[in-house]
Amino acid sequence: STPVVTTCGIAQAAKLGLLIKGGSFLEVLGRLKVVALDKTGTLSEGNFRVSDVLAVGGISNVQHILHWVACVENKASHPMAVALVGYAHLHGVEPTGEVTEFEIIVGEGVSAIVDGHTVHIGNARMANRLGWEEVDKEIVDSWSSQGATVGWIGVDNIAVGMYSVADQLRPEAVEAVKDLKRLGIRVAMLTGDSESSAAFAHKKIGEVDIHAQLLPEDKVRIVQQLKRTGVTAMVGDGINDAPALAAADVGIAMGVAGTAIAMETADVALMTNDLRKLAIAVELGQSCRWKIG
Ligand code: ADP
Ligand code: MG
Repeated sequence: STPVVTTCGIAQAAKLGLLIKGGSFLEVLGRLKVVALDKTGTLSEGNFRVSDVLAVGGISNVQHILHWVACVENKASHPMAVALVGYAHLHGVEPTGEVTEFEIIVGEGVSAIVDGHTVHIGNARMANRLGWEEVDKEIVDSWSSQGATVGWIGVDNIAVGMYSVADQLRPEAVEAVKDLKRLGIRVAMLTGDSESSAAFAHKKIGEVDIHAQLLPEDKVRIVQQLKRTGVTAMVGDGINDAPALAAADVGIAMGVAGTAIAMETADVALMTNDLRKLAIAVELGQSCRWKIG
């Protein structure tokens, strides 16, 4: 009967390192038409590296700028924050200032008060909102063309610094996308990161639909749109991915790298962070359905 076949499938999936919460999700995977993939932490390693920090405003001392950065980002947990604190440390700067009113600005970055100064750290969306977009377009273009995300540092509402930060694609991600496409599944990339970093990843991954600079609610909206075209999975790892995981027909969390909230929301967890297992699970789902049918 159906439950026996399904149970067998779940046990096979578990051997592959896929934790499936309930038999129906394996059957759903077998009917999959669209996979939406988060970029940071899912297609990419989620280990950002800072390549440059420049002084661009009135304060020319980069050490000084790094002090503000380290203090604020030390309170944040985004992989870019970890990279920036690490970069400051490498340059002999520790987060020793007094930080109050730390805030995460969704889709933009962070802000806080450090030793009485208001510090903002974030992306182009933040720079535009705060009126810093005029700051050095040449640098922005040159860093962006290398696939990096450009960030801004502002103190007391004046841009004082810029940084370049980038992430590496997971080595197996390219193959995983190919495997999915070979199964006739459409692949979309969803990211809160910049257009340029998304485009750079896109060049390496091949034909996928890209959606960049998304807020968590944008990810949900796109998943809902994709669902109208066929059975849709969303794969993600972050706190911000949880609503989109919940909106999909099947939500898949990157198990090792994933946050607790993503794991809790997901229907399936990839316990190895190896995206290629997803295509194998789809085939498993297809074969189980065939046996039932
Ligand atoms: P994602 O996980 O897709 O990057 P987020 O909503 O977490 O989505 O972040 C969106 C963007 O906001 C990031 O790509 C980054 O540019 C910026 N950002 C978020 N947190 C920080 C931070 N702590 N420091 C600097 N920038 C940040
Ligand atoms: Mg993410």
